[in-house]
Amino acid sequence: MNQNYCSNEIALRHGNWVKLICGASNEDLPSITDLCAIYAAAGVNCVDVAADLAVATAAKEGLEWAKSKLGNKPWLMLSISDGKDLHFRKAFFNPESCPPECSKPCIKVCPANAIEEDKGIIPDRCYGCGRCLPVCPLDLIQEKDNLLQIQDLGHLISKTNPDAIEIHTAPGRINEFEDAVKTIVQSNIDLKRIAVSCGLEGHGITAYDLSQELWSRHECLRRYKQKPLWQLDGRPMTGDLGRSSAKSAISLFKKIHALAPPGPLQLAGGTNAYTIDYLENQNGIAGIAFGGIARKLIQPFLTEAKAQNKKLIEWPEGWEKALKLAKELINPWLKNQYSTTH
Ligand code: SF4
Ligand code: SF4
Repeated sequence: MNQNYCSNEIALRHGNWVKLICGASNEDLPSITDLCAIYAAAGVNCVDVAADLAVATAAKEGLEWAKSKLGNKPWLMLSISDGKDLHFRKAFFNPESCPPECSKPCIKVCPANAIEEDKGIIPDRCYGCGRCLPVCPLDLIQEKDNLLQIQDLGHLISKTNPDAIEIHTAPGRINEFEDAVKTIVQSNIDLKRIAVSCGLEGHGITAYDLSQELWSRHECLRRYKQKPLWQLDGRPMTGDLGRSSAKSAISLFKKIHALAPPGPLQLAGGTNAYTIDYLENQNGIAGIAFGGIARKLIQPFLTEAKAQNKKLIEWPEGWEKALKLAKELINPWLKNQYSTTH
């Protein structure tokens, strides 16, 4: 067992596990390399990326870079879904249909700088947050699914050799979930964890119903001899930096904790720098995943590096500033002392 495996598992037990979510639909390769490098250098335990060969390769480049400089190598997690899911979509529109007098609110609201004047949406950068959809006065922006087909998963796993896989699931999809697990297991790769991501929002179910859904996934993972990691998706895809969204994942944890099957419970969905303020001595939280906020903090440096025709890892001044911000976000969790019960 290598040292990294131990430290990431220990972090799960001690409540100071931190994961970077690059975005299940984010395919902006240079940004992914930089994001993975910077958050690996800051000390995250895992980076979670879209299940795509080019994306995984870009992520590994960033992880290897951080390892060569600092010795820290987080797990690489691929995100898939066992059915339709907000995290696996992209927006699109035809810029030729836009009237010249439009004030372009779509460009202003996009947190990923994925919309460019006259070019429309740059698909690789769009991670499907959906914020542009309601702001277009002409309703020109549509969404489309960006799901990996389960039959393509085995090939991808053998090519990318991930440490972990996350399955986004939803109530009523246990058969589809099991199909995904079966395909993963057939690829014969020794995974550290299979993460299961699910929440209450948008499903019209109670916390008890959700716990039963998790228990059915637990039985499935046990049958296939896989270790779970439960990701509680408080408020999916908000990218919100405020205190109200910060509370949502903790509120979901409080509802689910006593009902959940064995295994670490990790917060996600609306998580941000305020989330730790609401822990209130909660035992049982294994850690946190940061998505929109982690990307937003670093975005100005990625944009500037791009303007200089460089990667962030090739621009020492920008790198140092970005690393400081990344550390400010995750350090409170790395120092978190609450132990978990699972
Ligand atoms: S606002 Fe969100 S959904 Fe729209 S283009 Fe930007 S990243 Fe994609
Ligand atoms: S808001 Fe709608 S009409 Fe205006 S630029 Fe964006 S997509 Fe085009």
